[in-house]
Amino acid sequence: MFCANPECPHVRDTKTAAEYRDGIAVCPECGARLVPDRPAVSSPASIPAARDAPLVVVASFNFRQDADLAVSMLVANGLQACTFADDCGGVDPGLGFATRARVLVPETQAHVALALLRDLKQ
Ligand SMILES: [Zn+2]
Repeated sequence: MFCANPECPHVRDTKTAAEYRDGIAVCPECGARLVPDRPAVSSPASIPAARDAPLVVVASFNFRQDADLAVSMLVANGLQACTFADDCGGVDPGLGFATRARVLVPETQAHVALALLRDLKQ
């Protein structure tokens, strides 16, 4: 099993993807989900640049914590992501039912984010 996160400390230090024994599901260095095959490209260049790209919604959830969990997974996989929830910063979660908690990513990374979120649901 391999860590496919191009921002993983192991990749930054060694320029190669970290490899782990079968049975280990999460990279102990960065928290990314491991993949069965060695990633073809293990550099940040494989993820499109986010600078100046407009943010787009790639997922929405009834609860902020679910959106935050999705954001954590996306960030662990080297993307930029944030939660947008209209709930007074979590102080009044009841407001969240009117407008669901949304996961935002730069438009240039949306297709990568959607693929990772699709994998998460399976
Ligand atoms: Zn890692």
